[in-house]
Amino acid sequence: MTTTEPGPGPLTSAVHLPDPPAVAQRPLAPALYRSTGYTFASTEESVAIRTGARPGYVYSRVDNPTADALSEAVAALEGAGVDEDVHGQSFGSGMAAITATFMALTQAGAHVVAPREIYGGTRSLLHGVLSRFGVTSDFVDISDASAVHAALRPQTRVLFAETLSNPTMTVADLEMLADAAHGAGALLVVDSTFATPFVCRPLEHGADLVLHSATKYIGGHSDATGGIVVGRPDLIAPLRSIRHTTGAVLAPDEAYLLRRGLATLPLRMAQHCASALKVATALQQHGGVEHLDYPGLPSHRGHKLARRYLVDPAGEPCFGGVATLHVRGGEPAGRALVQNLQLITRASSLGGSHTVAQHVASTTHRQFSPDELAAAGITPGTVRLSIGLEDPRDIIADLHRALDELP
Ligand SMILES: *Cc1c(COP(=O)(O)O)cnc(C)c1O
Repeated sequence: MTTTEPGPGPLTSAVHLPDPPAVAQRPLAPALYRSTGYTFASTEESVAIRTGARPGYVYSRVDNPTADALSEAVAALEGAGVDEDVHGQSFGSGMAAITATFMALTQAGAHVVAPREIYGGTRSLLHGVLSRFGVTSDFVDISDASAVHAALRPQTRVLFAETLSNPTMTVADLEMLADAAHGAGALLVVDSTFATPFVCRPLEHGADLVLHSATKYIGGHSDATGGIVVGRPDLIAPLRSIRHTTGAVLAPDEAYLLRRGLATLPLRMAQHCASALKVATALQQHGGVEHLDYPGLPSHRGHKLARRYLVDPAGEPCFGGVATLHVRGGEPAGRALVQNLQLITRASSLGGSHTVAQHVASTTHRQFSPDELAAAGITPGTVRLSIGLEDPRDIIADLHRALDELP
C-alpha cells in the first residue's frame, strides 16, 4: 500500500479555490472589482505600489479600479476642451466629494464665499460643521458681481458656485466668477450636478475644480449613490489622501452602475432638456401658476447666461431637466398640487427616469427660515419638478389636471 501526501483539507479548498479563468481579451463592458485587497508577488512589490513607485492597487478604501474607471471617465468628459491634464476622484456620495474638497482646500482661519441658494447639504456642511473647525463662510447672491467682489477677502480660499442652483435654476456666470476668485487668490469650485458635462463644462470657463453628485443625472436611474471631483492633478491629488483617511470611498457596485449611466447621459439629458422646456412653456400660462423658473424661458433672469453656458456638444441650448413652479394659493395649494398628481411621482431626489415633484418649503428646504426662503426665491407654493423620460405630453397633462383641480 502506497501512502500519498494528504491534499489540502476541505476548509482550505473552500478558501483557495481555483483561479477564475484568465481573460486576455478586453471585455466590452468593464470589469467589476469587488475585492477589498490585492495580492503581491513579493514584499518589494507591495512596498513599490504603496509608495507610488509602481502603479497598482493595495486596498479598496485607498483606491478601487471600478471607482477609478468612473472618475477618469467623468474627468475625460469634463476636460475634453481644456489643454491641461484633468483627473478625477470618486467618493461615496456627492456630499462626501464636497466635504473632501473643502477639507483639502481650507484650514482653520480660511474663508469661503458660497451662493445664497446653495444645496442644503453643502450649506449645512459650511454652516454647521466646518464653522466648528474655524472655517467661516459668507452666503451671497452669486449672480451679483459686486456682491461677490465685496464678499471676497484675503483669507478666502474657495469661491463655491453651482452651475444651476436648486430650485430656482439660477445660472452661474462662470467666467465672471473665475475672474473674481482668481483676482482674490481663491479657487473657483463648481457643483455642476444639475448641468452634467453634456450641458456645461465649467473647466472650459475657468473653474478650478468641478464636482458632481453622480447620484442624480450621471447614474440617471435612481439606484446608485456617488460623488466625483475633477480638476488639475495638483488639486486632485490631496482629495485622494483625504478620501482614504476619512473612508469616504465609492463602493465598486455603485461605481459600476454610475459609469454605465455615462453611455446614455447625452441621450437622457437631451430628452430631459427638451421635455422640461415643453413643460415649462406649456405651464407658464396656466392661471394657477404665479411664475415658473426655467432658464429656457426668455422670462427667466438667467436666460442670457443660460444661452451662453448651457449648450450641448452640437451647440444646441440644453437648459437642464429641473423646472420649478410657484403655485398661487401658498402652501396649501403647493401641497395640494403635489397630492393631485397621478403620473408624476411624489419622491425625493432628481435626475432619474421618473418625473418627480416635491413641495420645496416642507421638504428640500425645510431648514430655511422664512427670510432665507424668500431670499432664495422660494415661496410657500413652490414645487420643484425633476422632469423625467416619460412622454412630455403625459407629464404636461398630469400637471394641467392637477392644477385645474386646485380650489
Ligand atoms: C444631491 C446633490 C448634492 C449631494 O449629493 P449626494 O449624492 O446626495 O450626497 C450636492 N449638490 C447638488 C446640487 C445636489 O443636487
